[in-house]
Amino acid sequence: MHLPKNIIAGNWKMNKNYSEGIALIKEIIANNTSETEEYEIIINVPFIHLKEAVDLSKEYKHIAIGAQDCHTESSGAFTGNISAEMIQSCGAKYVIIGHSERRMYHQEDATVLNKKIKQALKNQLKVIFCIGEPLEEREADKQNAYIQKQLEETILQLNKEELKNIIIAYEPIWAIGTGKTASSMQAQNMHAFIRTLFAEKYDTSTANSLSILYGGSCNPNNAKELFSQEDINGGLIGGASLKSDDFQAIIKSF
Ligand code: PEP
Repeated sequence: MHLPKNIIAGNWKMNKNYSEGIALIKEIIANNTSETEEYEIIINVPFIHLKEAVDLSKEYKHIAIGAQDCHTESSGAFTGNISAEMIQSCGAKYVIIGHSERRMYHQEDATVLNKKIKQALKNQLKVIFCIGEPLEEREADKQNAYIQKQLEETILQLNKEELKNIIIAYEPIWAIGTGKTASSMQAQNMHAFIRTLFAEKYDTSTANSLSILYGGSCNPNNAKELFSQEDINGGLIGGASLKSDDFQAIIKSF
């Protein structure tokens, strides 16, 4: 059986100008020069940092660079947008798709997300696919049905081969950037539920190989407990990935 890979992924969102971002990449690399097979560090940077971040981290197998979005189409008259092929051509290995901020501010529904997933996979990018329920669903105890629907409309339509290039990030919307973290039990229960959905649709070995990350106000104080849960294979880190000391402390929680 293939074990899921442990992953710490940073999501810088729309933060850091060019020189600030490069300085942060350099700090993260300097803190993580020793090769490790225990986990992979993925830094999802703004497009302006992509190429240089790739060049700076090239010699470290355990550090990869990703983008935070790609377009639904391969190329064409889409002013201001960036295609998966463009991202891949910079040497990036990952792309985040389905982040709740993109779903909310850019009206990205399952149809859009499926096109983006196809573009990413066609261009050899691995996808960090985000799912997560809003507070009302959690308060009504309907989070499992909500997450199941998000997956059934998207990732659960992929074949097993495609699934090898997918990482799931469970990010309850009420925990993103709010300082409110899901308890380790809430997160573990959801991750176990997600894994069951994959076991039912594919098989146990496929489900057990899937990396499922937790995201939502993950910080140096709560990371260790979250990552020690059986079905949590690491984290997608927003705010705390912008400070190299905090990000490093989270990496060291493994
Ligand atoms: C995110 O945006 O993916 C995220 C998890 O943000 P934060 O860690 O700031 O809650």
